Amino acid sequence: MPARLLDGVAVANDIRAEVGPRAAAFTARMGRPPGLGIVLVGDDPASQVYVRNKLKSAGESGLRADLERLPATASIEEVLAVVDRLNRSDAHDAILVQSPLPAALGADAERRVFDAIDPAKDVDGFHPINVGRLVQNRAVVVAGTPSGVIELLDRSAIRIAGARAVVIGRSEIVGKPMALLLLHRHATVTICHSRTGDLPRVTREADILVAAVGRPAFVTREFVKPGATVIDVGINELRDRTEVERLFPPGSKRRETFDRRGAIMIGDVHPEVAEVAGALSPVPGGVGPLTVAMLLKNTVTAAIERAGRAG
Ligand code: NAP
Repeated sequence: MPARLLDGVAVANDIRAEVGPRAAAFTARMGRPPGLGIVLVGDDPASQVYVRNKLKSAGESGLRADLERLPATASIEEVLAVVDRLNRSDAHDAILVQSPLPAALGADAERRVFDAIDPAKDVDGFHPINVGRLVQNRAVVVAGTPSGVIELLDRSAIRIAGARAVVIGRSEIVGKPMALLLLHRHATVTICHSRTGDLPRVTREADILVAAVGRPAFVTREFVKPGATVIDVGINELRDRTEVERLFPPGSKRRETFDRRGAIMIGDVHPEVAEVAGALSPVPGGVGPLTVAMLLKNTVTAAIERAGRAG
């Protein structure tokens, strides 16, 4: 029997439907909407699409969202100056600096910029203070992607407590916070990475397997215990026709999309996993929409927290 598909679009819509009234209540009480400042440096095409989505969704949910754009030639001091201005702004409760920053800014640019964000406005939860709070299970906001995965599991009635969970990937943005969130929800968690020996043997122990690797179709059927829940966080653009033809049968929708657009978006999980897994989050339509919904939820939460502290 093919895996049950976990509908990220429907769950994201539910979350957004809950954000709207909270944002409206905040606006009525404070005389201004919850405010999000987004900093975009350079012209990475994927980042531009993500940022456009975030701005549009924020507006639809009754939030104020402002884009601060800087050219790819901007210096680190210029980026830090924008962050500083948003830190001091009364109209902004949340700040998001779109990753990745241009490589020309230097290897430590993201760390410097994330560290400069006021922890109370750090909507992605990347500031060391917020990471510490996450470790101690007292975070106010947590990065949108891993917290979105938890919402997807909860709202799809997949039991986390007591489950054996394996996360492939140990990035600060996805893998590590994902593992901590699963641990706080009483899963028994293993984190895997590029040096993990005999990876399929480890991942086959998982009741819940989260793939955050950044490699198209990396997780094949031998990685998956029959009946397991597989969450595909990966977003990879595939432009190679041979690869598309290897992964998808003739006449499939994905091949049609490829023929039309010359590229398709695929996750880290091979399509054949649908024949083994019990539940599977698709790409697109799985974790992606949740990341944006959680950003909106986190912005409203940050606004309410700030207002509470000020009052
Ligand atoms: P990342 O920083 O590149 O981290 C990738 C992780 O995968 C690293 O920990 C790496 O191990 C591990 N890895 C790489 N090759 C491996 C291998 N052969 N075997 C086992 N582990 C391996 O990526 P990321 O930022 O976490 O993102 C992961 C994926 O999620 C990407 O496709 C990204 O586009 C996607 N993403 C999606 C969303 C969303 O909204 N859905 C949000 C963020 C990211 P090492 O640490 O040993 O190098």
